[in-house]
Amino acid sequence: MSDLISIIVPCYNEEPSLPYFYEEVCKVFSSMEQKYGVNFELLFVNDGSRDQTLSVIKRYAGSDPRVKYISFSRNFGKEGAIIAGLTHARGDYVAMMDADLQDPPSLLDEMYTAIKEEDYDCVGTRRVDRKGEPPIRSFFARCFYKLINQISKTEIVDGARDFRLMTRQMTDAILDMPEYNRFSKGIFGWVGFRTKWLEYENVERVAGDTKWSFWKLFLYSLDGIIAFSTAPLSIASVLGIICLFISVVIILIIIAKTLIWGDPVAGYPSMMCVIFFLGGLQLFSIGILGQYLAKTYLETKRRPVYIIKETNC
Ligand code: UDP
Ligand code: MG
Repeated sequence: MSDLISIIVPCYNEEPSLPYFYEEVCKVFSSMEQKYGVNFELLFVNDGSRDQTLSVIKRYAGSDPRVKYISFSRNFGKEGAIIAGLTHARGDYVAMMDADLQDPPSLLDEMYTAIKEEDYDCVGTRRVDRKGEPPIRSFFARCFYKLINQISKTEIVDGARDFRLMTRQMTDAILDMPEYNRFSKGIFGWVGFRTKWLEYENVERVAGDTKWSFWKLFLYSLDGIIAFSTAPLSIASVLGIICLFISVVIILIIIAKTLIWGDPVAGYPSMMCVIFFLGGLQLFSIGILGQYLAKTYLETKRRPVYIIKETNC
């Protein structure tokens, strides 16, 4: 039996880039079909696009039996699209790839041979530079990776893209993680398995615009921290201990000053500082608690991560 490779492509308003993507991917498919005798399944996940993305995909599906699609009832986000694709992919090997050609399809060949011949379970990709990205975004991205790797036991690789090829075994392991708040970069690391990293230089998207604003990325990084670390929860205890220690020192100083010099303690300004300082710390700590509580709340509702409106799977 020849291997079936499923390629999952999350699409949100990708009408302008799909023709380029489909052409490029078909070239790689035919060369690999000839070279290794493998079969492909191209699984588009239309994540509630507002443009003609779905009709373009349906046109491809009409003429190419390899093309499958799932279309959501609204925009559920890329994480939803990824898990929907993983659930419906039938391949012995499963890859996921962006529709904007920022993940070069030509790397698939190398990924497949690495899994087949070098006995890896997964081949991931990471970009070695962040060319074409606003410097401020790169700066925050670097800080995020440093921070999360400090406070989380799961390794989250800097610059790793979602573009990867995995064995069926690893795919099933990921499908066994039923969480609602999904952070793929963490999930891939958490399940383990042997991963080989291919490095390449950043490619800019072929057409259309990025779907990630700075704010969206910032919130996504917070989701990642909350999903893969409980360290922020201990911040309150640490701050509490520090404050306690400081207050003991201050009390001793005040007692000493009063006994030795009989100094009246300056009241209002210092009191205001202390009230604001402690109030700030307390609200900050409650805020962190609130974040975890909110995630727990959402998780207990057990809502579906996505809703399918149409599919040909
Ligand atoms: N995407 C999606 N749902 C979303 C946002 C993005 O399915 O809500 C898809 C998008 O169509 C693309 C991939 O996720 O195939 C990566 O998005 P984008 O290229 O905008 O991100 P960037 O490469 O700028 O990080
Ligand atoms: Mg992109």
